Parts: sequence; C-alpha cells; structure tokens
Amino acid sequence: MAGKDKGNTKLTRRAILGSAAIGLAGGPAVAGTYVSLGTIEDAWDVTADIVVVGAGAAGCSAAIIAHELGKQVLVLEKGPVVGGTTAKSVGGVWVPANAAMEEAGISDAREDCLRYMVRLSVPDRFDPSAEYFGTTPQAHLLLEAYYDNARRVTETLEDLGALKLIGQKFNGAFMPDYFAHLPENKAPAGRCLYVGDDAGNLANGAEMMRRFAAAMADRGIEIRKRTSASQLVLDSEGAVIGLVATGRDDAPVRIRARNGVILASGGFTHDVELRRKFLKGPVFGGCAVPTNQGDGVRIAAGAGAQLGNMQNAWWAQLPLEQALENASVPTGIWCTPGDSMIQVNGRGSRFMNEKFVYNERTQAHFEWDPVTARYPNLLSFMIYDQRSAEQYAGFAPIPPKGATASHVIEAGSIGGLANEIAKRLETISERIGGFALEPDFVANLEASITRFNSLAETGQDADFGRGDQPIDQFFHFFGPGVPQNPLPNPTMHPIASSGPYYAIILAAGTLDTNGGAVTDEKARVLDGNGQAIDGLYAAGNCSAGCAGPAYWGGGATLGPAMTFGAIAAETAAAG
Ligand SMILES: Cc1cc2nc3c(=O)[nH]c(=O)nc-3n(C[C@H](O)[C@H](O)[C@H](O)COP(=O)(O)OP(=O)(O)OC[C@H]3O[C@@H](n4cnc5c(N)ncnc54)[C@H](O)[C@@H]3O)c2cc1C
Repeated sequence: MAGKDKGNTKLTRRAILGSAAIGLAGGPAVAGTYVSLGTIEDAWDVTADIVVVGAGAAGCSAAIIAHELGKQVLVLEKGPVVGGTTAKSVGGVWVPANAAMEEAGISDAREDCLRYMVRLSVPDRFDPSAEYFGTTPQAHLLLEAYYDNARRVTETLEDLGALKLIGQKFNGAFMPDYFAHLPENKAPAGRCLYVGDDAGNLANGAEMMRRFAAAMADRGIEIRKRTSASQLVLDSEGAVIGLVATGRDDAPVRIRARNGVILASGGFTHDVELRRKFLKGPVFGGCAVPTNQGDGVRIAAGAGAQLGNMQNAWWAQLPLEQALENASVPTGIWCTPGDSMIQVNGRGSRFMNEKFVYNERTQAHFEWDPVTARYPNLLSFMIYDQRSAEQYAGFAPIPPKGATASHVIEAGSIGGLANEIAKRLETISERIGGFALEPDFVANLEASITRFNSLAETGQDADFGRGDQPIDQFFHFFGPGVPQNPLPNPTMHPIASSGPYYAIILAAGTLDTNGGAVTDEKARVLDGNGQAIDGLYAAGNCSAGCAGPAYWGGGATLGPAMTFGAIAAETAAAG
C-alpha cells in the first residue's frame, strides 16, 4: 500500500487548481497542466516511491519491475479495470534474438536487427553504409536499448510470473515479420512471440493482462482504478515530485512520488481534437480503450516535455460505421478477408494490395489528389461475393455464418450494390465531408473486377502484388477457418459473375496513436532542450516510441511498451 500522509496545511486543493490554470494559460500548444509549488512534505494525501499512470502493458511492466527493485509503487488507472488496450490485443510481442529463435537456430545479430529497424523507422534517410544507418545518434540509442533489453525484460517478467510468452508456430512455421521480404531483414521470421496460457497454449492480450494483474495483486501493489492523473507537481527547479489525480468522487488527490512518475497512459485516439491537430491523415476512430484520451501527452507537455511522433499511429482500417458508432471499435482489419474480394476507392479502382499489413494499408487512405484537392481514398469499399461471404465467415469484418451485421451492404448486382453504397453514404454525409462515389464508379468497378478476375486466373497480381509477400499469405489464413482455393494464388479468386454481392465501407483508424513525450534510452522524458526532466518517465503509446512510423512485425507495439516500461522503472528506482 502507498503511504497516507496526514495534513494539507500548506498545499490546498484550491491552490493547486489555481496554479494549474496559470500553467494552462501560459503553456505550450498542447494545453499543459502543472504546478510549481516546491517540496511541501505535509501537503500530500498519499505518498509512494514511484507512481505509474496507466495499467496497460507499459504501466504493469513498470510497476512489477519497480516493486522488485524494492520500491513502493502506486498505479493509477483511469478505467474501471486493469488492462488498457493491451487487454484487447492479440498478444504478439516482438522480441529480437529471443530464446525461441535461438532454439530454432535462427540468428538475429544486433547489427542486422538494428539495420532492419532503422530501414523502416527512417525510410527517407536510411543508408546502410552510414553511421547509425542514417538515423540520428539519439534515435539509434533508443533502438539499441530496445534490442539490448527486450529479451532481458520479457524473460525477467516471465521469471517473476508476470508474463508468459511462447514461440508459437503456425502450420509449422513462425510468423513472418511484416517486412520479411526486405533484403535488410536477416531474420525474417521468429521475432514475434505470443502470449501463452498456463498450459502453454496460444492465448491473447486479455490473458497477458490477467497474469499481470494477478502478479501485482500477489505483490500487494496498490492499483487505484477509476483514478485519472491530471497534472504534475514540480519543485522549484522543475523536477517532478508528484501529481494530482482525480478519483471516483471527482475530488483531487495529491500524490507524492519520491522517485518519480512513470507515464504509461496510452495514446490520444479518443481525443478528436488532438487527432485532428496532429495525425498525418484523416481518421474516423480507433480500437483503443475509451479512456485513452491523450492525458499523458497533455500532462507531459505541461511539464515542458518535447513531443515527438505525433503524426503517427499504429494504423488499422476499420469498418467506417463501427468507427462512427462506437467509442472503441472492437478490432482492426488485419488482412482484408476473402479471395473473391477487392477494395476499391470512390472511383471504383483498386488502390492497394488488400492482403498486406493493416498498418501500411491504412496509410493508402491518406493519398492526396493535388488537382481535385481531395483524398480520393478517404473511404474504401470492400467488395465481395457469396463465395467469400461463406468461406471467410467470421474473419472480421465479414460476419460469422448465420449472423448479420449492419455494416454489410448487400445487393443482387454490381449496379445495385453501388446504389446501396451511395444511399448509405448520403445518410452519413455530414460526418464524411460529403464524400460520394464518382459518377463513373460502376463502370470502373466492373472494369476493376474484370481485371482482377483475369489476374486471379494467372495467380499474378501485376497491379499490386497481392499474395506475393510472406505476410500476405500468413494473414490470409489467420482466421477461424481454412478456406479452399484451387487457383495458383490462394489470396485471389475471380469474383462471381452474378450476385449476391456485398460491400463494407472501410476507413482509416488506429489501434492507438503512438506519439507523445520524447524520451531517451533510459525512458527519461526530455524537455525542449533535450535535457531530462527530473522525475518524469514515459513508456508505451503516450511516448514517442523507438519505432517512429515503423511497424516491424507482429508485437512491435507491445514489445517496446513493456521493455521501456521496465527501463523507466529501473531508471526511476536508481534515481
Ligand atoms: C484489437 C487489437 C489487437 C492488437 N494486437 C496487438 C498485438 O498482438 N501485438 C502488439 O504489439 N500490439 C497489439 N495491439 C496494440 C497494443 O494493444 C497497444 O499498442 C498496447 O497495448 C499499448 O500499451 P500501453 O501500455 O502503451 O497502453 P494501454 O494498454 O492502452 O494502457 C494505457 C492505460 O492508461 C490508462 N489511462 C489513460 N489515461 C490515464 C490517466 N490520466 N490516468 C490513469 N490512467 C490513464 C488507460 O485507461 C489504459 O488502461 C493491438 C491493438 C488492438 C486494438
């Protein structure tokens, strides 16, 4: 239990909030909230050594490690349960040079892995012969820290009973990285470990968080649920000495953090203003838990933190109508399901390899047409026939067999389908910037289907290379059934010449955003001058993670979240 301090004679609630308002008015572009009141030992309601903000993968990893280092830890969780977006995840964890790879004889040398990571993290500056492969020394240090610590941290958490990972094989092979096909990837499969249950069977993010929660309970680590951190308390030299949180009764609680505060509060998917202000393209929603509203970004900015990677996210295509209706969309579309299926834009033209990685496909929505001054791919229309509806039933977003879903549009002919799509768009016109199908949509869609059908017969997608990459094939079969396709490329099958036909409107969204406080390799938050802010640490999706815009492979978000959460705890504990 965190200690309870009596008395609040010098630091009244009114004083804190009044000072915060001054910080807000004079603060940086993202409104910050902080107070500078000096160290007033009797002013706190609660004292802990380390206060962790957020109980997802990053926060729980930090809490467990800090506790193991002998620190008194208090975890604040805004939501009603431990878990965050992590509990919704598939539970893949990308760990370079992990034990399962070693056992399988797969080498993942440091230099090779760093080269691959840099290749994707700074694609515009990558130079294999340059120092740091073309990235900055600081960014390289973060990647080095990740390579050097991911295995150590995850294995430590396993030793502590807080995590169980398995080297899962699918049809006898490890999952390929998302860019297994690039020449820079010298270990194209095996880095993605998966959560295992007690029996070692494949499990998921919910099981990961169940185990974390149990490990914290076993250790008596206090978790205050429905408690939202709102502002930091700084001393006269700008060091973070505590924070103010709001509990169930909306009353502020003043919490002293002797060693520091670790921000692990997820991204800003559910703050529409931050999304519009920073993300590099128009998005319509996301899968993060509804409590991920950018609090960590505002809190860190209020203390003078440098912000980074604010334009990026872990991107995912979503069924548009789910995104408009739900605060938190259940899941992203990992791989567009179906073989007799294509995605087309408002012109009726294909614009992507439908089987490639969700993170990359989603960014195809952001293409800009300079002449019409519009996003031609703002919305995508997933078109499929009865064959795919049946064979891929239950591969989201195709509903399971016998079920119906309001996001599925159905008609007997292609022309009829276009009419139904147009009607659907009209009903939500105000929320999609008036986006409508182009006048030649039907003709183009029919031509796209004819072209796709002939490519499917040959097995070669000469237009977008569908099915060519290892990850296309992996994702295509990653679902509840094993679809049959006798043609040379199992990801492609001609679309039927007669209906029924189906359409689902897709739009860009996020699993969560991944920009926020810039940190160094010790997870210390840096100020505008690149100096560490004493007592402030960040990890996971509220920080500008080491990956930048890259999604190296399955698990490339949870791996860094847990690793830098643990590093933050180690740095704070040593401070
Ligand atoms: C369907 C789905 C599947 C996914 N699968 C994978 C996968 O297999 N592998 C992978 O690597 N990634 C996956 N991801 C992404 C991954 O889940 C996230 O990137 C990761 O969980 C982020 O962890 P985190 O600890 O940073 O944030 P979170 O797990 O979101 O935790 C943040 C917590 O902070 C809390 N919080 C917010 N504000 C405050 C505040 N002011 N005070 C206190 N608490 C606060 C939130 O309530 C939340 O509980 C998936 C995502 C989704 C949606």
